[in-house]
Amino acid sequence: MEPFDKLNRLAGSHGALRPGKGMVSGLVAFALAALCFLGVLAFRFPEYLTTPELRRSYDVSLMRELMFWSLVLSGALALFNILRGQTRWLSFAAFLLIGLTLALGGHTVPVGDFADGTPYIGLDWFVLDLLGSTLVFVFIEKLFALRRDQPVFRPEWQTDFHHFIVNHLLIGFMLLATNLLVHRLFGWAARDGLRGWVQDLDFFVALFLIVLVADLVQYWTHRAYHRVPVLWRLHAVHHSAKSMDWLAGSRQHLLEVLITRTLILAPIYVLGFGKEVIDAYIVLVGFQAVFNHANVSVRLGPLRHVVVTPNFHHWHHTQDAEGIDRNYAAHFAFLDHLFGTAAKSDRRWPDRYGVVGDYVPDGFFRQLIFPLVWKR
Ligand SMILES: [Zn+2]
Repeated sequence: MEPFDKLNRLAGSHGALRPGKGMVSGLVAFALAALCFLGVLAFRFPEYLTTPELRRSYDVSLMRELMFWSLVLSGALALFNILRGQTRWLSFAAFLLIGLTLALGGHTVPVGDFADGTPYIGLDWFVLDLLGSTLVFVFIEKLFALRRDQPVFRPEWQTDFHHFIVNHLLIGFMLLATNLLVHRLFGWAARDGLRGWVQDLDFFVALFLIVLVADLVQYWTHRAYHRVPVLWRLHAVHHSAKSMDWLAGSRQHLLEVLITRTLILAPIYVLGFGKEVIDAYIVLVGFQAVFNHANVSVRLGPLRHVVVTPNFHHWHHTQDAEGIDRNYAAHFAFLDHLFGTAAKSDRRWPDRYGVVGDYVPDGFFRQLIFPLVWKR
């Protein structure tokens, strides 16, 4: 089948999309149709394909409306390209997915009663975060581009996207595992007196405190990842990205995600922060983790010595000598100044990213086993 061959070839390629050929509109139509199809699957099988923590906080009728308008936009773009005689194969694939989505119930798909507590994959989290992050960050990256010649589909985007998919689908397993580990390993340390004091703190004081505590743990964990050879094996995967953009931050070994999250959640649990404070922290850390890798020219002047900016974190990812084992903080740049690990350079931005020697293989599965099989 020709359309599928072309689709396959497209998924394996990279580079800038030439405007005026129907590629951008064709891809938007296809991507929206694909997300609608995944969305309708999540509606059909909510107990296995949606995240309890997430579905409690979004409005189902809003999701239906989002799906309806995505279907309309996708169909309109695909039809437009068919009439213009451009990227018909992409339109064909989009219409196929729209048809499947409608056959499964479309935006009016009924949702029956379902049991809580089944094992699940976070398909809803994947669909919504991909849609939201693409909209927000592709826009920000175009507006404040650092490297203007770097296309959205730059080399190795497939690997980072693969990491993104797995990280999102495994959210349930990760939540379960980190919660279990935190309670098993650090449950003994929780004291009611201290927890009560923390819970009585003013919201913004508590927010500052939770970010500070989390970043202190993150800083020293991160420094250990660079300094302890066995840990570096895991962390080298994250550093192997040779292009920086919003997707590059997704490249992380699952074991590293598990270890780091457990260690950061430990003091948050022990200190007993309130739910609103933890939620605000999660939004903040989610945004900063993506934004600091983004292809944006954001430095913030002298403030860059206080909070972590894309500029600060790009220096952490460089192969250039000034940045090696520097800039460990994730939120507060002053931690690196305090502990003597802040990068200093005459240049504003680094030249090259990745690990020196470029020894980490490309590809999700190769990177998954890399820490086990790497011979120095
Ligand atoms: Zn690092």
